[in-house]
Amino acid sequence: MDLIHGIQETMRIKTFAMKKGADLAGIADLGLLAGIPTKPGNLLEGFTVAVSVGVRLNDSVLDGMQDRPTSLYAHVHRMANTLLDHITFDVAREILGTGYDAIPIPASEAANIAEKLDTTKAQELDWRPLTSSTLPSKAVARAAGLGWFGKSLLIVNPEIGPRFRHASVITNMPLTPDTPLRSRCGTCEECVKACPAKAIRGLRFDGVPPPREEVLDFPRCRDTLWLDFKNIHDVGYPICGVCIASCPWGRRRQQ
Ligand code: SF4
Ligand code: SF4
Repeated sequence: MDLIHGIQETMRIKTFAMKKGADLAGIADLGLLAGIPTKPGNLLEGFTVAVSVGVRLNDSVLDGMQDRPTSLYAHVHRMANTLLDHITFDVAREILGTGYDAIPIPASEAANIAEKLDTTKAQELDWRPLTSSTLPSKAVARAAGLGWFGKSLLIVNPEIGPRFRHASVITNMPLTPDTPLRSRCGTCEECVKACPAKAIRGLRFDGVPPPREEVLDFPRCRDTLWLDFKNIHDVGYPICGVCIASCPWGRRRQQ
């Protein structure tokens, strides 16, 4: 595939994803993700890029949240994951139809497992399979230029902030990668102040984040989601959304 054809095919695949319901689409150079943990460990062998897609969450639902998830947020979170899985499945099929290889990466693994589990007792849980994924979607979204890693470790897009969910398709189709964005968090600490678990440390960084424990007290966040919020009536799985709702990027102006 020559350069011009590669650019045209990149536009075509992004447009295809948008027509299927994506609000954001970008291409990640998998070379930027060398050494990233995957399940299985050799998942990325033979693949060169990932198509990262984003589906926007509902502003009114996010604006209606205070310090915990609501049943409406659980609904839009679930539906966004379902739509993402349909989009990535279709994008992979479209790529396979051109003769290249492609695998859709599930958007909602932890959520799917969580719905089947009684999580009222931390000591009975093995957290590892519940909090690791086939391929970390945030790192792919950042490499694809969908946004920067915020202090909350959410991906923050300049237009819609962290108000979206994302998923990806890995492929060997020679698509043209996008460029990662620089952090625009600056001195903001809105998510630090809003976090109900007091888990966000407020560390300033740019690009690939330092080890997670330096940025977040992850066990505090995880335990709040899995042991408290999952057990809220009509929520039912480990979500929060407070750091999403609190970020000034993408928040609608007050009337
Ligand atoms: S998901 Fe909730 S508990 Fe976890 S860091 Fe964000 S605001 Fe804090
Ligand atoms: S709330 Fe502020 S610090 Fe947190 S991710 Fe958004 S811009 Fe960055």
